[in-house]
Amino acid sequence: MIIVMKPDAREDWVRAVIDRVEKEGLRPVLLSGTERKVIAVIGDERRVSEEAFSVLKGVERVMPVLKPYKLVSREFQPESSIVRCGGVAIGGKECVVMAGPCAVESEKQIIETALAVKAAGARILRGGAFKPRTGPYDFQGLQKKGLEYLQSAKKESGLPIVTEVVDPRDVPLVGDYADMFQIGTRNMQNFLLLREVGKTQKPVLLKRGMQSLYKEFLLAAEYILSEGNRNVVLCERGIRTFETHTRNTLDLNLVPAVKELSHLPIVVDPSHGTGRRGFVAAMSRAAIAAGADGLILEVHPAPDEALTDADQTISTIQFAALMKQLAAVADAVDRVLPSPSESVACG
Ligand code: PEP
Ligand code: MN
Repeated sequence: MIIVMKPDAREDWVRAVIDRVEKEGLRPVLLSGTERKVIAVIGDERRVSEEAFSVLKGVERVMPVLKPYKLVSREFQPESSIVRCGGVAIGGKECVVMAGPCAVESEKQIIETALAVKAAGARILRGGAFKPRTGPYDFQGLQKKGLEYLQSAKKESGLPIVTEVVDPRDVPLVGDYADMFQIGTRNMQNFLLLREVGKTQKPVLLKRGMQSLYKEFLLAAEYILSEGNRNVVLCERGIRTFETHTRNTLDLNLVPAVKELSHLPIVVDPSHGTGRRGFVAAMSRAAIAAGADGLILEVHPAPDEALTDADQTISTIQFAALMKQLAAVADAVDRVLPSPSESVACG
């Protein structure tokens, strides 16, 4: 349940409510809104009645949250969350495009890509340093060196960085370089990793598990929020279906579903969602039209030479052309997306 305090509730009244929650064997999570404090009660709340809290001093109302996920639900927070990543707001009017190679391959490659995608209107640079590969003998990423190259690219371009963390033990290291952690599809239910990034305040791009239900996806996000980190951006990246023509099936139904069920922003990854370079533009346009808060796209100066995910990677030139189309689609659905000329003019 959610306990909403009155705007003028005193600190000691809030404390008393928290103490009472703990006494009942439940876990309080204090969330300080701009106007009033809210206490989320985590645990088996059937053991205590709402009245037990509604009579306490300073309590405005007590609301049950019927969904299994609490903190991420729209019931809990009716207004949409805006997640900030290095000065970029995700979840507002602007559709935020994150772009870059699947993997960081060299300093030259990541800097060249960063400058090109920035000029085309991308707001965040992506690039994997730790790659979760299907086979143990596949290229696993440049790891720490890759993080250093990402830092150089950030310095050169000014773009914040989103990069994947695959091991809970690497959270401090990746956190030193990343502006946003990426949790990949294979780790969506790595609960230790979710808890670890949840203990930080850094934004997290949480990708949907390739075989996960919406409920399981939102519960994975709940793990992060329940540790105190509310800066989560959800990402649809395609799921396994019986279709094999595409690498995955991009499930755009998730976009309106998340808008209904949760206050968290949702972005779409048409690169992994299709696995095909030729399909990326169409599904990017569709995602923005469906109401996505942004996109994450794999872009490389020479896509055929990409060490990972070459088949689904578009060139920097294709990316710039796509951004122009996306600006028009965003405009049609009352959103904004910086088109290449605008972003170049802005420097
Ligand atoms: C990636 O972004 O390169 C990646 C590995 O994504 P996913 O976890 O969605 O497969
Ligand atoms: Mn990839």
